[in-house]
Amino acid sequence: MFKSFTILALLGALHGSLGLVPIYVDLIPMSNANRPGTALSGTRYITVHNTANTSPGANARAHANYVKNPTTDVSWHFTVDDHEIYQHLPTNEVGWHAGTSAGNAQSVGIEICENSDGNFNTAVRNSQELVAKLMGDLNVPLSRVVTHQSWSGKNCPSRLLGTWADYLNGIGGGDPSKCYGTVTASGGLNVRQLPDASSPIVGALAEGSYVQLMGRATGTPVSGNSYWFQVGAGYASAYYINVSSGSNQLWCTN
Ligand SMILES: [Zn+2]
Repeated sequence: MFKSFTILALLGALHGSLGLVPIYVDLIPMSNANRPGTALSGTRYITVHNTANTSPGANARAHANYVKNPTTDVSWHFTVDDHEIYQHLPTNEVGWHAGTSAGNAQSVGIEICENSDGNFNTAVRNSQELVAKLMGDLNVPLSRVVTHQSWSGKNCPSRLLGTWADYLNGIGGGDPSKCYGTVTASGGLNVRQLPDASSPIVGALAEGSYVQLMGRATGTPVSGNSYWFQVGAGYASAYYINVSSGSNQLWCTN
C-alpha cells in the first residue's frame, strides 16, 4: 500500500530537532460524499482538533483509512500522530470538521491523535511543526490558528483547550513583548467599556478565541479576581482568560 503514497515533504529536513516526520498524501476519493470538492473561500484559518479516540492503534494511518470509507460523513485535511502525518484533502478544498459552514468553508482542519499506544506530547509537537509549515504555505497568521471550539462550541481539542495559548506559543513566531490569552468563559465573554461588571457592553469574545491583551487594569472583582484586560475597544474580566506563558510583560498574568 505504501507504494501508492507520495511523500510531500520531510519536515525533519527543515527542523532537525524533530527527526523525520513524513507527510503521506493519501486523499479521500473524489467519489466520496465527504469530499465535496468545493474550494475553500473567504479568509483562511487553520482549525485544530483532537481525535477523541484513545484506542490503541488509532493513529494517523488508521484515520486515513477511516476518512476514505464511503460511509464516513466527516473529513479534514491532515491527521498527525507521534511519528507521521497523513493528508486526506488538498489544502484548497472544503472538509467537514468545524461544525459550522463558516468554519468548514474557510479552514484547513488538523486532527491530533491521542491513541493510548502513542506519545501524545510528540504528536502535539509534530502538529505544531505542521501548523508552522501551513502558516507559511497558506499565508495564515498565528491569530487565525483556532480551535474547533471557537467555531461551534464543541469541547475540542479537548486536551489542549486548557493550555491553548501555550500551544500557540509553541508554534513559534510569538513576540515576547506582546501578551496573549485564551477566552475560557463558557458561551463567550463580554467586553465592557470600563473595568466594571456593570459598565456597558461594547463587544464579545467567543469561547476558545485567542486574543491579544493590550494592558491590565484593576476594577470590580469577578469571582475574586479584580483584574481586567484591555482588549479591543474595552475591558474583559481576567477571571475568564488563560494568559499565555510566553510574554515578558510583568502585567501579563491573571
Ligand atoms: Zn474537533
